[in-house]
Amino acid sequence: MSFQQIVNRLKEENEVLLIAHNYQRGEIQDAADYVGDSFGLARKVAEMDVPNVVFCGVDFMAESAVILNPEKKIIHPEPMARCPMAAMVDIDRLKRYREENPEAAVVSYVNTNVETKAYSDICCTSSNAMKVVRSLEEEKVLFLPDKNLGNYITRFVKDKEIEVWEGYCGTHDNITPKDITDLKELYPDAEVIVHPECRPDVVDIADHVGSTAGILKRTIESSSKRFIIGTEVEMGHRLKKESPDKEFYFPGNPFCSNMKMITKEKVIRSMQDLEPVVTVDEDLIEKARIPLERMIEVGRGD
Ligand code: SF4
Repeated sequence: MSFQQIVNRLKEENEVLLIAHNYQRGEIQDAADYVGDSFGLARKVAEMDVPNVVFCGVDFMAESAVILNPEKKIIHPEPMARCPMAAMVDIDRLKRYREENPEAAVVSYVNTNVETKAYSDICCTSSNAMKVVRSLEEEKVLFLPDKNLGNYITRFVKDKEIEVWEGYCGTHDNITPKDITDLKELYPDAEVIVHPECRPDVVDIADHVGSTAGILKRTIESSSKRFIIGTEVEMGHRLKKESPDKEFYFPGNPFCSNMKMITKEKVIRSMQDLEPVVTVDEDLIEKARIPLERMIEVGRGD
């Protein structure tokens, strides 16, 4: 039996939904019911009438699915698949900042752990970060944890005093301008699209900047045939599927080893046993839901 056939059988037998982030291995994406970005997936879970969900992504993504769907069983095939950037927030330091700066709004990227969200005023994604920050009444803002996304926002939002945490995603931060220009020499007609988690000097030389959903949309709509893509290399699987006649090149081979801790074998085991279940403290769920729902409210009308 192929992986796909086993997954299909288990979906029916165990009433389980399989969802996967864009950076998951290609074969897992192919077997999944839905593939997308972290927040899109958490919201997709809410729309589906299933009791069990196997969530292929890193820890904070599975947690967000629990926060928005506490009545469902969210199963994470590899609990050690954790995002290093989400772990770059020192909660004691964040609590201290809040005490010392009561006038500031704390905006946390969805790429944060549940405890960080619980101490935030509002969350944002890479596609709505600008809109979220602009929506705030407060003039002073602490943005965390990604310094690159935070600095990208400061390019456009000039009427606020934005302090940026010094976290970063190594997968994106390791991409250099030289990685891009080397590819550009080989493919001068290629359009350069990068994720805002990339360094400012990489953003400077890009034709477009966008979230994974934004990158996908641009590559489908553009008349270009070649693209240099500044995000995790597995995104190429999705891009190629949507646009088989186009070519995609990834500068510096950006690879997230945390995402790749989830394997076909672990997915099958999780779908069979419906374990390991993600558990989150109920008090934290209540607190963390507030900034997520506030973000959703800001996004209404889009
Ligand atoms: S790609 Fe970056 S932000 Fe995403 S899980 Fe890996 S380390 Fe975290």
